[in-house]
Amino acid sequence: KLSAVGLVASIVKPALANEDTISDPFFSDYNGGAKMISTWSHGQEANRAGWKLLEEGKSSLEAVEAGARQTESDVTNRSVGIGGMPDREGHVTLDACIMDWNSNCGSVGCLEGIAHPVSVAKHIMQNTPHVMLVGAGAKKYALKHQFETIKTPLPEVKKEWEKWKKEQAAIAKKPEINHENHDTIGLLAIDEAGRISGACTTSGWAYKLPGRLGDSPIIGSGLFIDQEVGGAVATGLGESIIRIAGSHTVVELMRQGKSPEQACKETVERLIRKHKDMSGLQCAFIAINTKGEVGGFSVFNGFNYALKTKDQDVLIDTPFDRKW
Ligand code: ASP
Repeated sequence: KLSAVGLVASIVKPALANEDTISDPFFSDYNGGAKMISTWSHGQEANRAGWKLLEEGKSSLEAVEAGARQTESDVTNRSVGIGGMPDREGHVTLDACIMDWNSNCGSVGCLEGIAHPVSVAKHIMQNTPHVMLVGAGAKKYALKHQFETIKTPLPEVKKEWEKWKKEQAAIAKKPEINHENHDTIGLLAIDEAGRISGACTTSGWAYKLPGRLGDSPIIGSGLFIDQEVGGAVATGLGESIIRIAGSHTVVELMRQGKSPEQACKETVERLIRKHKDMSGLQCAFIAINTKGEVGGFSVFNGFNYALKTKDQDVLIDTPFDRKW
């Protein structure tokens, strides 16, 4: 209970979101070594960026942020950061979130013109009483805290969008979404101390309706960490992942004793049960548990994730439910 003075103080200065959660020191008997997994082949570069920090003894939180930043800066990536595809009106709006072993989390949605949404998400997590900022408010926050700005779409991406707009003129009048590409990066890391963190960053569905948010910035859908169990991230059609609170579902299945791969598989099966039309509906999950075991599963073939450990730097094709 708050005293009168405490109550007034809490109104004047709201607690930080992370003052509310269990805090360090962190104790665990984990001795499986640091490990990082990230979605898709661009995950390898991201893992390498994160790994540098893990090697220096930095936390899994810093590693996943560094990995996500690597992909956000990749001008050749059409689904994350500066190289991302725009919405149907030509605006590149970015979504990202981050979560640590203490259940601290931060998120931004529909953020335009900022180079590293994942770092804005982390800043929100560490410096405000909130979890999520979107749109103009998120932009204002990022500018206020001097986050690097970028000009999007890149000229070549703009050209592609203009071409698409011409070809799709008839469709573009209707509020329909068609998906051209989606390849978010989701990252999970466990550090030497056994602390698990995750991050997720994307430009979302190419040519989406303005204002659309997918699963990626939504804690529980695109990403979820619970240090009692492990963590999971998702990629694929965000609308379907949100419908089953995908990443949270994976973590809860692991809580019931399922391996990361089995938990991802059962989550994919649940997603399939909830959708009549699965044509082209690719979704995938990757997961890690507190023992450092990892796994993934996708709806269709063709999904892979990158794994980095002290001795390994590999791409792993996940098992899947069906073939294209
Ligand atoms: N999940 C992302 C979204 O729906 C896209 C992706 O994973 O490619 O925005």
